[in-house]
Amino acid sequence: RTVYVNGEYLPEEEAKISVFDRGFLMADAVYEVTSVLGGKLIDFAGHAERLHRSLALLDMRQPVTDAELLAIHRELVARNGIEDGLVYLQVTRGNPGDRDFAFPDPDKVKAGIVLFTQSKPGLADNPAAKTGMKVISIPDIRWGRRDIKTVQLLYPSIGKMMAKKAGCDDAWFVEDEGVVTEGTSNNAYIVKGGRIVTRQLSEDILHGITRAAILRYAREAQMVVEERAFTVAEAQAADEAFVTSASAFVMPVVEIDGVALGSGAPGPVTRRLREIYLEESRKAAI
Ligand code: PLP
Repeated sequence: RTVYVNGEYLPEEEAKISVFDRGFLMADAVYEVTSVLGGKLIDFAGHAERLHRSLALLDMRQPVTDAELLAIHRELVARNGIEDGLVYLQVTRGNPGDRDFAFPDPDKVKAGIVLFTQSKPGLADNPAAKTGMKVISIPDIRWGRRDIKTVQLLYPSIGKMMAKKAGCDDAWFVEDEGVVTEGTSNNAYIVKGGRIVTRQLSEDILHGITRAAILRYAREAQMVVEERAFTVAEAQAADEAFVTSASAFVMPVVEIDGVALGSGAPGPVTRRLREIYLEESRKAAI
């Protein structure tokens, strides 16, 4: 596999990062994951825009222009022959040559950038979309700026392991009184009486690029959307539930903490949104 590291395309075995890189030492780095369908990038503009925001909020500079960023994405997709899969992009604060809590001067230490691809044949035909996922709820003990897409992913990893141990597919994070924030790596939704409910944007959740697209498509299709918090109990009494992310698109949730939703199978609103999303995002892919 060919990867991109700080201006160079290299075989993955030859790619190297300094032990002093702040992304490695302090999780002082942000990332994006863009999906590829039919060799084309899904919502590249949305991911580039969120990258700008994450970088600005952490006082970091983007090491390449947006045009270069797009060109690198395309070059890696082409060189690695990716038909369906993902492009992972990470920008780190770079290598100041020592370990120090204080940020280095961005004029002296340039941000680092790494991109690689993951091939996922049949990404849009994931069998889990037919059966749906089982989730458990776990306390949301992440830091308070979940709107910044940093690589601090230890707790989400632990959450996925907890789900696996419980015989489930994923976990939903909950705050006090059982209010759901989001999934370990996706935004969470419920459907009740045809209304789609998902938590409002704030510093408490990641502003999903797929979320923005889904809400736009839902409103265009005259569906009712409520952006507000909901509890696990409300979700367990809902007709349907689902999650969205760049790599899972729209994925049904059929069980929460052992309670089956509705019929226990993916519901019609979820199925329709998945179809619309895949169709529209393929059309708009670049
Ligand atoms: N929420 C969290 C915590 C995530 O990690 C992700 C994706 O990685 C999402 C939501 C979904 O965001 P997007 O649709 O931009 O992939």
